[in-house]
Amino acid sequence: MLHTLFNPKSVAIIGASAKELSIGNVITKNLLKYNFKGPIYPINPKAPEVRGVKAYPSITDVPGDIDLAHISIPAKFSPQAVDECGKKGVKFIIINSAGYKEVGPEGEAIEKEVVRIAHSYGMRIFGPNCQGIINSDPDVRAYCDFTFTYPDPGHISIVAQSGGVGAVIMQNIHDLGVGMRHYASNGNAADISIPEIIKYYGEDEKTKVIILYVEGFADPHEFMEAAKEVAAKKPILAMRAGRTEEGAKAATSHTGGLAGAGISTELIFYKTGILTFRDEAEMCQSAVAFANQPVPSGNRVGMITDTGGPAIIATDELIDGGLKIPPLTDKAKEYLADRLYPEATISNPIDVLATANARHYRSALDALLNEDQIDSIYINFVTPPFVDCEAVAKEMAEVSKMRQKTLVCNYMTDKPQWTGTTAIMKDGNVPCYDFPEMAAKALIAMTRYNELRSREIGSVITFDDVDKSKAKGVINSAIKQKREILLADEVYEILACYGIPVAEWEIAGSPEEAASAAMTIGYPVVLKADSEQIIHKSDVGGVKVNLKDSGEVLAAAIEMDEKFGKSGLRYFVQKFMPGGKEIIIGANKEPGLGHLIMFGLGGIFVELLKDVAFDITPITEFEANHMIESIKTYPLIEGFRGEKGADKAKLTEILQRVSQLVTDLPEIGEMDLNPIMAFENEVFVVDARIKI
Ligand code: ADP
Ligand code: MG
Repeated sequence: MLHTLFNPKSVAIIGASAKELSIGNVITKNLLKYNFKGPIYPINPKAPEVRGVKAYPSITDVPGDIDLAHISIPAKFSPQAVDECGKKGVKFIIINSAGYKEVGPEGEAIEKEVVRIAHSYGMRIFGPNCQGIINSDPDVRAYCDFTFTYPDPGHISIVAQSGGVGAVIMQNIHDLGVGMRHYASNGNAADISIPEIIKYYGEDEKTKVIILYVEGFADPHEFMEAAKEVAAKKPILAMRAGRTEEGAKAATSHTGGLAGAGISTELIFYKTGILTFRDEAEMCQSAVAFANQPVPSGNRVGMITDTGGPAIIATDELIDGGLKIPPLTDKAKEYLADRLYPEATISNPIDVLATANARHYRSALDALLNEDQIDSIYINFVTPPFVDCEAVAKEMAEVSKMRQKTLVCNYMTDKPQWTGTTAIMKDGNVPCYDFPEMAAKALIAMTRYNELRSREIGSVITFDDVDKSKAKGVINSAIKQKREILLADEVYEILACYGIPVAEWEIAGSPEEAASAAMTIGYPVVLKADSEQIIHKSDVGGVKVNLKDSGEVLAAAIEMDEKFGKSGLRYFVQKFMPGGKEIIIGANKEPGLGHLIMFGLGGIFVELLKDVAFDITPITEFEANHMIESIKTYPLIEGFRGEKGADKAKLTEILQRVSQLVTDLPEIGEMDLNPIMAFENEVFVVDARIKI
């Protein structure tokens, strides 16, 4: 679909000024400088030429066909320009100028108008308010952009909503001496969307890795669908945006406050299999490894070093990153004993010694290639002046080209002196890093991608013992009565419809009724004030636990009556269930996305440590388990130091049932089960709140 945009046979620039410091002029310059393979047509009613290229007064005066036209004239003139492009038979338009949606309603109206005109001619709009695209393919060399980095051909494709971030990434990759395939920064994205670009990159054979920068999603579902499909085929690397918001938002114990834009972006990335980074430099450096090496099929690393310290640093980093450095087999040890220096260390890491020659390195590489329990190879290579380093590099390059196992190298040298060695490493596609941490991080990123790609998320279970229509009835009647917060009996009714276990309860209208309800339930009980006005019951003395007889129930009820009597108070009597682990499960609606679901341990764990996990509904059993296992306090759920744990299988099931509940009942804005009392073999919800 976007093929012609990235592979235009001819390009026109509407608004190509003769002034050097203007966008249209710079685009003309870039096309020339990057050696664009087709004709360039500057459009300018006054100048006969721009940068030495013949200009035309109007696009309709151009003799040949035009695949792609830039528009860099003021927004108010663009509808007419787009219309002329349509008449000329242009296929794609990049609108570089600003002055559209980003400036307000007037600009937004022009933006809608140009898209409408374009579509009426079957044209597509890229932008407006954007940089454009670059295709480094030697047969195309389309620099339809006003930036200043001239990348060599390569396998990394970049798509960035923000041109600023995109340009920094492109420059950094260029500085690393690595090529780029495509670049796209589409600004306001009025027509061609980021998901479309991701899909195009997904189909582009020469794109081996995609770098993505987005801050939000116009259509989260469109994005998720495209990203999921592409991430299964090739790595998509992205920055985690807005993580400070996550910390800020996590300050409150209610899901409504816990979730934020930053969290949902990260969840969307995780759910679709996009690899996220906290650091742009690390993302770019990792992209270099992805572009040059096969993805490892596991997390076990074999290490080769010719110097001690960097191996220690790398080991720490790799282990921190969840990788394993398994011992060598006897077979490998025997193989190496015959081939390395007697003083060499034959274990993992293999220390070949600083005096190691090409044959020693090759033996170490071969030994690791032949080890079944090794998935990837990490090398520390400092270039000793008393060794034929080019010969060593040739062995690494040869092994790299075999593409049997992932290779990364912490290459420590003075590059201007060791130019020959450096060139051999580069031609051999050996990703080289100045520091052991960076080489390790790149390998960790590749291993993480393999884990993301190979996880079996499974499909969403639909529980068929639920009564959806009854639950809908409860919600609808509250909506009819214009109530936002459901009453306790309504909430518990809905939970019952979805098979979510709750502590036994009764609603009473008077203290006496409360006492008799307590009798039915059996002592001890808890008495709670039920009123639309009271949200945090215990904060205002609306919860009395461990009431052991009717006298205590009556006294507590009368006390509440005195406190809250005016506000239509009812008494919620519930079985007292002490001694369990307090768990929180919540759901919160995110515009355009559906509900986020949250899991955490209650009390100080959520309030102080913000130790919670999120996902996007609907969730599968795998995802529910992953949520539970990913909180830091998970060992407490498993049972820690003799303390009893919680019924994880039941919690997994409740998470899935809540997921189904909020998916079935989209009217629900917020839902909190706080707390759920979890025991070793059973769990009960003891407090629940639903807001519509
Ligand atoms: P709120 O959250 O509105 O303050 P809750 O119903 O959650 O009120 O009660 C406050 C706390 O009291 C709970 O977090 C829990 O520690 C305790 N609690 C409430 N109900 C029970 C119960 N049935 N069994 C044991 N403890 C309970
Ligand atoms: Mg509560």
